[in-house]
Amino acid sequence: MNKVEHIGIAVESLAEAIPLYEKLLNTPCYKTELVENERVNTAFFKTGENKVELLESTDPDGVIAKFIAKKGQGLHHIAFEVDDIVAEMSRLQQAGFTLLQEEPKKGADNKLICFLHPQSTQGVLIELCQEIR
Ligand code: ZN
Repeated sequence: MNKVEHIGIAVESLAEAIPLYEKLLNTPCYKTELVENERVNTAFFKTGENKVELLESTDPDGVIAKFIAKKGQGLHHIAFEVDDIVAEMSRLQQAGFTLLQEEPKKGADNKLICFLHPQSTQGVLIELCQEIR
């Protein structure tokens, strides 16, 4: 894996979280994007080499809404950049990690993504992401 690409943070409201994070990071939100298949609205900030992704649920039954109901707002996942997501998924599966999907799917910010089950990573939700070229 190349680097931490972004850190995902679950929030109840982007309208409240975006100005807070702009103040915190001292940088403007450069993009918001609805990811319909994930039922989330996202907002991105650049912090040097890395990014912060805020996630707001668009659906009370969506994964982010369920996460917040269970654990509250806060750190949701860590995303690592990879060059070849299919090869990395196969490597991790062979190494005994549980993938949350069989095929990479389209995520926010022009990425192919795949999540690893937190039960196989000692409680951390890990996302793999590869830039769509
Ligand atoms: Zn993410």
